[in-house]
Amino acid sequence: MGELEIQNLTKVFQDDGGDIIAVDDLDIEIKDGELIVLVGPSGCGKSTTLRCVGGLESPTDGDIVLDGTAVTDQKPKKRDMAMVFQSYALYPHMTSRENMEFGLKMATDLPKDEIRSRVEDTAEMLGIPELLEKKPEELSGGQQQRVALGRAIVREPEVFLMDEPLSNLDAKLRTEMRTELQKLQQDLGVTTLYVTHDQTEAMTMSDRIVVLNDGELQQIGTPLECYHEPENKFVAGFIGSPSMNFFDVELDTSGDGPTLVHEGFKYDLQEEVYADIKGHGERFTLGIRPEDIKLATADEHNAVTTTVEVTEPLGEVTYVYLEIADQQYTATLEGDMVIETGRTLTIRFPKDRIHVFDAETGEALRNRSRPDDEDIESLTGLQSADSAQASVE
Ligand code: ATP
Repeated sequence: MGELEIQNLTKVFQDDGGDIIAVDDLDIEIKDGELIVLVGPSGCGKSTTLRCVGGLESPTDGDIVLDGTAVTDQKPKKRDMAMVFQSYALYPHMTSRENMEFGLKMATDLPKDEIRSRVEDTAEMLGIPELLEKKPEELSGGQQQRVALGRAIVREPEVFLMDEPLSNLDAKLRTEMRTELQKLQQDLGVTTLYVTHDQTEAMTMSDRIVVLNDGELQQIGTPLECYHEPENKFVAGFIGSPSMNFFDVELDTSGDGPTLVHEGFKYDLQEEVYADIKGHGERFTLGIRPEDIKLATADEHNAVTTTVEVTEPLGEVTYVYLEIADQQYTATLEGDMVIETGRTLTIRFPKDRIHVFDAETGEALRNRSRPDDEDIESLTGLQSADSAQASVE
């Protein structure tokens, strides 16, 4: 079992300028076998959280609980956890085999034969048997990272702790290793806490994402929940690339119906959207993801007229940077259209795709709608695991 709980974790560092609250009352429950990615901007407290879980930092407050037992005061090597670092941290004078054996020799009293066979089985699994007798200086970055992973895997821990393990690899290798690591984690079924500042890594690898900012929890959710149902403007802006567009708007209820007024356009609100934001003052942020912006004709309801500033054709799609009231926004349009810089473009924000945030608190008051299981079944013939089971019974 590897059920990990981070309970009310707080870590305060002192420096000349005073207290630095690196982690602020963080609560996370991680299920056995789950891959959780901690993500957030530089300095948000990701590594400090991981180091507190692994025992490399002592929490100022709170507990780390593994399978129901608090391990907060245990030394790192007593915790049944193995860490993989960005820097690989291999011993330069040891071969890959010795590096992989080292932790096992130090932390366990396993017989030599068992250690040998664990190392060789793991090297086989990682496709690196031919590297076992080589020293780190003879290995490429990707090979060193595999050895570092192997060193963690041979320990057969309850929990893997990974701190930006792919950051030193080039883009192509990074993508390959991402898939490999994810598959390995699924095969081994080891609970994993993974730190990255790369939201693509977080989206593609995790069972659930934990978004942090300034040491505070912003949201815990599946990748698609964080993407489509962000709890606040910070998560909405951090997850997704290019980022969600945000428009400062004011609510006007003096006309025929409720309208959001921006410097460059007016947006008539649907009753159900108005119901969600009513009572939260007059200032809001209207959000829409670039791929949710659609082309429109000038006479369409809620159409917005813009100017094309820059286009970035990627082939499959084109990022179009649009100017509305002197500010730049992004739309992702189909890649086969030629869109000239400087031309006027009319766009619309479909009503089921908009997000509205409280301008003061950033809280999401309204998120875009998502198809539910029934919609997906009727559209695609795909059955959810639950309903497939029910139809068998
Ligand atoms: P990055 O992605 O840049 O590694 P991070 O999210 O992992 O950032 P942390 O390294 O956990 O962030 O740091 C959180 C905050 O705590 C930062 O403000 C950092 O400067 C501060 N901090 C971290 N370690 C120490 C330390 N040993 N002494 C003082 N301040 C520290």
